[in-house]
Amino acid sequence: MHCYDCTLLGEFGDAVGVCHLCGAAVCVRHVHVADVPVQQLAGVGTATSPRAARRMSCLTCRAAEAALGTRGEAAVR
Ligand SMILES: [Zn+2]
Ligand SMILES: [Zn+2]
Repeated sequence: MHCYDCTLLGEFGDAVGVCHLCGAAVCVRHVHVADVPVQQLAGVGTATSPRAARRMSCLTCRAAEAALGTRGEAAVR
């Protein structure tokens, strides 16, 4: 699979992942990788994993998330 953003530039970059928001394939040049906390309800509180999960975004969706000041958590719910 080829990177969507590379294709728009007339290039053929190999995809390394998929944007979690738009589903576009992304290459290593056009991906933003973020660590995100993993939480679940535990009794009356919330348990947070000591390890972060990984989230990949294309640069377009990353810019949209950054414009809202989020890392994308709100869009996933
Ligand atoms: Zn690319
Ligand atoms: Zn995207």
